[in-house]
This record gives sequence, C-alpha cells and structure tokens, in this order.
Amino acid sequence: MVIMSKKHANDAKSKEYLDRYMAGVEKRNPGEPEFQQAVFEVASTIFPYIADKPEYHENQILERMAEPDRVVYFRVPWTDDAGNVRTNRGFRVQFNNAIGPYKGGLRFHPSVNLSILKFLGYEQTFKNSLTGLPIGGGKGGANFNPKGKSDNEVMRFCQSFVTELYRHIGEDTDVPAGDIGVGAREIGYMFGQYKRITNRFVGVLTGKGLEFGGSKMRTEATGYGAMFFLRNMLEHAGGGMEGMRISISGSGNVATHAAEKALQLGAKPLTLSDSGGFVYCADGFNQEQIDWVKELKNVRRGRISETADEFSNVEYHDGKRPWGVEVDCAVPSATQNEVNGEEAAMMVKNGVKAVAEAANMPCEQAAVDAFIEAGVMFGPAKAVNAGGVGVSGLEMSQNSARIAWDEDHLRGLLENMMGDIHESCVRYGTEKIGPVNYLRGANIAGFVKVADAMISYGHV
Ligand code: NDP
Repeated sequence: MVIMSKKHANDAKSKEYLDRYMAGVEKRNPGEPEFQQAVFEVASTIFPYIADKPEYHENQILERMAEPDRVVYFRVPWTDDAGNVRTNRGFRVQFNNAIGPYKGGLRFHPSVNLSILKFLGYEQTFKNSLTGLPIGGGKGGANFNPKGKSDNEVMRFCQSFVTELYRHIGEDTDVPAGDIGVGAREIGYMFGQYKRITNRFVGVLTGKGLEFGGSKMRTEATGYGAMFFLRNMLEHAGGGMEGMRISISGSGNVATHAAEKALQLGAKPLTLSDSGGFVYCADGFNQEQIDWVKELKNVRRGRISETADEFSNVEYHDGKRPWGVEVDCAVPSATQNEVNGEEAAMMVKNGVKAVAEAANMPCEQAAVDAFIEAGVMFGPAKAVNAGGVGVSGLEMSQNSARIAWDEDHLRGLLENMMGDIHESCVRYGTEKIGPVNYLRGANIAGFVKVADAMISYGHV
C-alpha cells in the first residue's frame, strides 16, 4: 500500500481541482486565450495554497473571481480628417470592486479585444490589492490605432469614446487611466470631454496633466517602480544594481522610465525596442539618449530605428527582439507574450540572473516555467509594475483632498510601496527551502485580501 504524505495528498488534490477548474474556465470563455492564460497562472499557485482552507472552496471564490462584475461594450463613431465616418469598438471591463472602485487603464491598439481586456482586468484586481490601497480592478480601451492619426482625429475619437464611457465611470465607481496608446494627450482629451458633459471637475481619470489635477511622479511611476522592485529582488539575494547589464524591450512610457531609473541606480540599460525591432548600445544608454527617445516617441511619434541614425554607438536590429543580448537582468516592458519559451531558454543559457516583468504578462507560460525551473529570480508583472497604479491611487487621494504633494514625497511613497510589495511577495512566496517564488508570493498576497472581502459580503 502506498501511503501519501499530507503534502503529496494536498498536491494531488490541488492538481485535480485545477484541471477541473480550468476545463470550466475554458468552456465558459471560448476563444479567449489571453484570459485563460492569466487565470491559469493565478489558479495554479492559489489551489495549493487553499487546499487546506475550506472556506475558499465553500464560497467558490476562484470561480467568482474569474467572472467580471460586468462588461460594457459600445460603438465609437468618429470622423477622420478627410470627412469619412469611421467606427471602432469600445470596452470597459469592470472586473472586481471588492476592495475599492474599479481602477485600471484604457488601451488603444488595433489588437484590443475582449480576451485581452479580461486578462488585464483580472490581473489588475490582484495587482491593485498588492499596492495596499483601496482600489478594485478594471480595464478598458478600443481597437483604435492612434498611430498615424492627426491630433484632431485622436481628439474626435477620444470625445466620442467618452460620450458613451462617461455614464459608467465616476470618482467612487470606476477610475480609468492610460495604457498602451493612451498617454497624456489622450487623457487630456477624455478628461476635457467628461468635464464638459457632466459639469463636474473630479478625479475620474488618472494620469492627468499636472495643470489639471495630475500627480507628480505618475508618468515615471511604472518604470521607476519596476526598477525599485528589481533592486529589492537583487538585494534580497545578496546582490545589487551597480553595474548590472539590463535588456529592456519597448520604448514607451514604461520602457524609457525603466531605463532612466536603471541608469540612476548604477546599472547599464543596453537595449530598447518597438514593434519594428530593437536598438543596442554596448556602453549602456545615457540620459541624453533616453531623453532623445522620449521626444522621438512622445512628440515626433517616430520609430526606434531612428536612434541608430542619430547616435554612432547605437546599432539597430530590424525585426528582432532584444532577448539574445547577453545580460544580467531582463525587463520586458512592451506588451503581452513578448518572451517565448525558446527565448527564455536562451536567456538562461546566457546567464540571466533576474527577470522583472514591467509590461503586463510579457512572458508566455513556457518562459515563466523556464525561468523558475532554472532558479532565475522572476518578478511577475502584478508586483513589478504595480507602482503605476499605486501612484494613480495616490492621484485619487490628492484629487479627493484637493491637494498636490511634491515630487520627493511621492518618490518616497512609491519606493516604500514597492518595498512593501516585495516584502509581501517574500512572505507568501518563501518555501522552507529554496529561493523566493515571487510569482506564488504575489498571487497569494493579492488574492487573500480580495477573497476575504468577498467572503465578508456573502454570496454577491
Ligand atoms: P506605450 O504605448 O507608451 O508603449 C508601448 C511600447 O511597446 C511601444 O514601444 C510599442 O512599440 C511597444 N509594442 C507594442 N506592441 C508591441 C509588439 N506587439 N511587439 C513589440 N513591441 C510592441 O505603453 P506603456 O509603456 O504605457 O505600456 C507598456 C506595457 O506596460 C503594457 O503591457 C502595459 O499594459 C504595461 N503597463 C503600463 C503602465 C503604465 O503606467 N503606462 C502601468 C502598468 C503596466 P510601437 O510604437 O511599435 O507600437
């Protein structure tokens, strides 16, 4: 007779629950691979944790958490500069408000669909919980491509988008922010339209301009926060940031601020990229070059390849991602599923020590598994990039109180928040032996608060 230890029996039970649970999730959400991937990533770490906690099973918590509270889905008609009527599809996924008003960005990108927004809203719920602030999870956007559009076209689109969205949001209900394709320009147009329709000046969107209620440090928060988290991981393992060679993908808000903070912390950011290819600077990008890229992307709205025309020590690699460059740390900062299993294996072979996900779900499941199996420190997105929504939460507090904190104060709050998130991951992610499993730690720490609040409310 084989006698199973309690741990093995629990493991077998959790695996059986997980398989059954995922079969249900796949059946209820057909054709939504990104959403299924995000749910699997969380559930595979939560089931072992709740194996001996019946209250979570009895209350069907994981089942309830995988259903958004509601999804709003609408037509966005607008007129282009040539006078043609164009139509896009707008969405708002209000995922979970157990611990506070829905909060999460708006994404304008041609790839936007329900699966991607549900994955982002689901992840956001755990991330927002990790910040320690009273904010729930949501996400939204449209399959609109701001690239190549004039400012007037973007303005007309944003106004039309908010003409429907305004009735679903509010400072105590749902507070959207920016994401891919939604920066200061788009938030300005949307806030202007909200104010005009409702005749109310309230903190209903975050990421606003500093002149009209925006918070200092919000623009920098996600990239800076990611680097604070990476530093915390390295220090926890007995190292530090000084001299670390870092590959970064993307060249948007998150990537450029991650590169800037890496530099300030004594590391060398070696790469940046966009959907066309990546640029490599063997000396590490300096502040002048990073500022140039910010101007290139935010003002001239150009391509990253132009960086190699401007600076003689920068090489451009057309159509490639930066993961083949030999580095100590990698910080994917562009988009979902941008690191696959083979790339991860190559990075491991090249000696990568730590990977910090600054974008949302940039690593495919096979890549996550490859890093964790190889003992590479792996910081998951919901912990690493939580600084952005964290400072957005602080923007909401400042708006409610009609005050504006200074930059040093906010930088200190951000740094402390990232330190607290790191500690929570260590607390829940440390087994008796072995390195910290940050993925497990972040998922459990984010889960507990939301799940306990849901149990308190009864079956709603
Ligand atoms: P931006 O729009 O400012 O920049 C996105 C960058 O990613 C651009 O360089 C873009 O290149 C690149 N990119 C987009 N799609 C692809 C692709 N398929 N392949 C390669 N590169 C691509 O967005 P953010 O910097 O704000 O966001 C980046 C990531 O960080 C996203 O995953 C977002 O959800 C996440 N995030 C952002 C937060 C924030 O505060 N902004 C907060 C938390 C998470 P191109 O110009 O060619 O499209």
